[in-house]
Amino acid sequence: MPTLLWMQTGACSGDTMALLCADRPAFEHLLDDYDMELLWHPSLSAGGGFGAALARVLEGGTPLDILCVEGSLVTGPDGTGLCDTWRGRPKTAIVRELAARARHVVAMGTCAAFGGIHAAPPNPSDCTGLQFDRERPGGLLGPDWRGGGGLPVINVAGCPAHPETMTKVLAMLASGMPLELDALQRPAAFFGSMVHQGCTRNEYHEYDVEDRVPGGRGCMFFNLGCQGPLTLAPCNTELWNGRSSKTRAGVPCFGCTSPGFPRDGDLFATPRIGDVPRVLPLGVARAGYLAYKNLAKAAAPERVVKRRMEP
Ligand code: SF4
Repeated sequence: MPTLLWMQTGACSGDTMALLCADRPAFEHLLDDYDMELLWHPSLSAGGGFGAALARVLEGGTPLDILCVEGSLVTGPDGTGLCDTWRGRPKTAIVRELAARARHVVAMGTCAAFGGIHAAPPNPSDCTGLQFDRERPGGLLGPDWRGGGGLPVINVAGCPAHPETMTKVLAMLASGMPLELDALQRPAAFFGSMVHQGCTRNEYHEYDVEDRVPGGRGCMFFNLGCQGPLTLAPCNTELWNGRSSKTRAGVPCFGCTSPGFPRDGDLFATPRIGDVPRVLPLGVARAGYLAYKNLAKAAAPERVVKRRMEP
């Protein structure tokens, strides 16, 4: 029976809220279908509480198959971790001890993966991720850390993480399926395509027809800062609650699965030099971008410019 312990550190509980929305599979079905034992989850467990679960793993010899960490690792002040404690102990110390016994460690959300919002400059409480400090490998556990199963920390990035990505990754681990990770240790099966791929506004992007306020039908790249063409995430390939995503609802993608999230500066604008974004869409060459965009803009059909559905 695989065991799972979920620990919260510097978190807003957003990943837990998202987890409760999962339905393919739902978290409770995951536990049943894979015969998993939930040792502790702060929003779902009662009984002896976190202390009893901790004692079972650290003193009682209960094997820990999957440790999920939700939240930034708060190392301040001065490396003590005392900004975030449980019964007087820094949570960073508890995470280290649990990780040393775990077969797999999963960072649930961008805070645990890369530091997230709490680690954004000026980062007053010295927050970091489990194995990354924003883009830099390292974090709380160091770049060479590996779990008992041989994998580094598995980064299920997102702010919050996508519900079904969380439960599907847990299902893969519980069933012993191989999990391929990308260079940022995100499961490649879920982080292999951009938010832009699958966005219903692609035709508007193609012809450079842009909205200036959220909620319209056009593309939101330049005027609203959409990071869809730069962000690897499942949001438009597996819809949220089975029906929508930020861009489908008329809100720009903020690139929350990336280690540099949140960007420094205006979240609602894509910095550009002339008509060219300072950071180009993934894999696009500057000269090609310029030539293609100028041609496309001139060729935009009227129905697209006027945002009409019919020809
Ligand atoms: S709204 Fe964003 S994701 Fe959608 S087409 Fe425009 S840039 Fe791409």
